[in-house]
Amino acid sequence: MDVKNRLQEITRAKYGLELSQCGDSQLYHALLQLTQELSTARPAPKGERKLYYFSAEFLIGKLLSNNLLALGVYNEVNSLLAQCGKSLSAIEDVEPEPSLGNGGLGRLAACFLDSIAALGLPGDGVGLNYHYGLFKQEFAHRRQYEQPNPWIEDEGWLIPTGEAFEVPFGFGPVKARLFDIAVPGANSGVANRLHLFDVEQPAPAPADGIDFDKTDLPARLTSFLYPDDSDESGRLLRVYQQYFMVSAGAQLILKELEERGFALDTISEHVAVQINDTHPSMVIPELVRLLTQRGLSMDAAVEQVSKTCAYTNHTILAEALEKWPLTFIEKVAPQLVPILKELDARAKAAHSDPRVAILQGEAGKEIVHMAHLDIHYGYSVNGVAALHTEILKNSELRHFYDIYPAKFNNKTNGVTLRRWLEVCNPRLAALLDECVGPEWRTDPTRLNKLMDFYNDSAVLDKLLDIKADNKHRASDLFARDQYGIRLDPDAVFDIQVKRLHEYKRQQMNALYVIQKYLEIKAGKLPARPVTVIFGAKAAPAYVMAKHIIHLILCLRRLIENDPQVRPWLHVAMVENYNVTWAERLIPACDISEQISLASKEASGTGNMKFMANGAVTLGTLDGANVEIAELVGPDNIYTFGAASNYVIELYDQKAKDSKKGYQSKVYYERPAVKPLVDFLLDPALTALGDEAALKALWTDLTTKDWFMALLDVEAYSAARDRAIADYGDRAAWARKMLVNTARSGYFSSDRTIAQYNEDIWHLS
Ligand SMILES: *Cc1c(COP(=O)(O)O)cnc(C)c1O
Repeated sequence: MDVKNRLQEITRAKYGLELSQCGDSQLYHALLQLTQELSTARPAPKGERKLYYFSAEFLIGKLLSNNLLALGVYNEVNSLLAQCGKSLSAIEDVEPEPSLGNGGLGRLAACFLDSIAALGLPGDGVGLNYHYGLFKQEFAHRRQYEQPNPWIEDEGWLIPTGEAFEVPFGFGPVKARLFDIAVPGANSGVANRLHLFDVEQPAPAPADGIDFDKTDLPARLTSFLYPDDSDESGRLLRVYQQYFMVSAGAQLILKELEERGFALDTISEHVAVQINDTHPSMVIPELVRLLTQRGLSMDAAVEQVSKTCAYTNHTILAEALEKWPLTFIEKVAPQLVPILKELDARAKAAHSDPRVAILQGEAGKEIVHMAHLDIHYGYSVNGVAALHTEILKNSELRHFYDIYPAKFNNKTNGVTLRRWLEVCNPRLAALLDECVGPEWRTDPTRLNKLMDFYNDSAVLDKLLDIKADNKHRASDLFARDQYGIRLDPDAVFDIQVKRLHEYKRQQMNALYVIQKYLEIKAGKLPARPVTVIFGAKAAPAYVMAKHIIHLILCLRRLIENDPQVRPWLHVAMVENYNVTWAERLIPACDISEQISLASKEASGTGNMKFMANGAVTLGTLDGANVEIAELVGPDNIYTFGAASNYVIELYDQKAKDSKKGYQSKVYYERPAVKPLVDFLLDPALTALGDEAALKALWTDLTTKDWFMALLDVEAYSAARDRAIADYGDRAAWARKMLVNTARSGYFSSDRTIAQYNEDIWHLS
């Protein structure tokens, strides 16, 4: 197709305007139409088996640039627009960002869909069409407030399919209408689909905030991702959502199986279901139910489903391993209860160890362990980084590993370098074309060839120049979209952007900020000016996470108002951190903060995006940081802190005797630590914020500190000081940047997906 002619036809038909006469919004909608035409014209990939990737989240980000790239018309459209004096990035500002995810898990699902299509594999996503997303974060009074985040427009990416499935809830049947988002594959000529189910009559947004009547069903089923689960109606709503997703998804699978002409008792040869964390686990009993309802024996149904479903574990945090009271399932989907009991009885008959039971507890009060269901009745259990998988095998899921050693495997996460390098950092991408050839775009291992330029001062200078340029660009956008707040592009950009969680230890980063503040006040200046950038949403009911946001925003204000400190230390916190902000900030980063307590971050994917864009990691040996460290070598990463084995040992000791193991008080008393923690109660800070919140955080750190920030804070501070000092040797720093980009090819999600296909899915 002639892109220019077609685009011109569209703007004439839609608006009666020539391209050059259109405004950004008109151009956006014209490009959207063009993109949709090109995507839907593409065939679906073929294969023996088709994958259905079930996930409660798909954090897809804006789609225009990415889809243009996948469709192979990005450059053409870009230069066409440039001829009319327009820019794609200004046009993309018009696009609302879908808020269909929360953090890494949802973004991983989005990267995976991109890679599955790029590799030409048959695989669709299955999820829900949340109307108001997770939430939109607003800051006021140095606190987080949550607002609905509507993103669905009359003319958008959702394609109504006209298909619907009836989901049998306890209170009656509800129609699940299917909407699709096309997923064109880069260089593969095919397109897959993201299937999003929705109710027929979704409720309007709550008037203010994200509180709503959680019993207003079915209208509220698809309002929000992860409705507040701090009360029972919220938890129940999550189960309703999960069943809505998996029942409709399972019916779609069987319909397509039939259309492809295959018998139900051959489903495992033609379908693979990947269960992304435990949220979609009910797909297992639902498939068993539907297969037996349609004539398969229980034995045959269980066997087929067990060869169809595979499970990805994303976390070892106990609170994230879902356990639902059986009474919830009885209420939401009573027809699943006999199936669950049958599956549990079979598992108990085969394995008497009560620790591996699916249903636990006395009759009438049983709890359903969703992960246990997945492990018994899935044919693959994978962790998401080498260290994480080892921890699953050796501690968290040891009893299961003893039973099913062959099911366990590792698939180290990856990110799509199309979005996370080509689109978000075009100048670096162009330099890579020059240095290693454009083949890196389809074969990311080619990035290793960048090592040939390790001593090439012209290339090193270009890397520094591109980074400086990206810092200026990010600063301009920050000033434009974040209340005029100016970042200093000449300072070191030290960035921690990710969900807010105590295990990720934003509080430890804040303690470092306090340390620098106190040092500057005492006349000891840092090696050079540093800009510390945070971005993080806290779950609405997660009180301690909100206290940490409060601390950061108080520190931001404190320093802003202090002319002695401000030139040396700046704290910025981006409001409503999302994929768009990630794409702006990551290419501008010098130091990537990946400081989770060792053993707690399953993988991380932010770490990979930063690395590809030439940021140097400051991190613990946790998750995929371990693999990053191996790939770049000790000169090109700053690692610190307690090792995962030691941390696990501390927890074990504490579990046996609460007076043993990690005692935060001991570390709090250390002379280098106490003043930092006590600053939370300093009148200079409490005057700016909520004294009770700061006190609650102080009390937690001094008496509990479950994620051991005080254990590592001194080593962290030393490593961070060293990184900031090393930044001054620009040539040496540029080499570190070069090595990080050169070694990032391993973390392409194309590699991850090729491994899933090879070891688990066998799609073609
Ligand atoms: C990549 C990404 C994440 C995950 O970051 P981690 O540092 O791995 O937790 C979260 N949110 C957004 C918007 C992302 O792009």
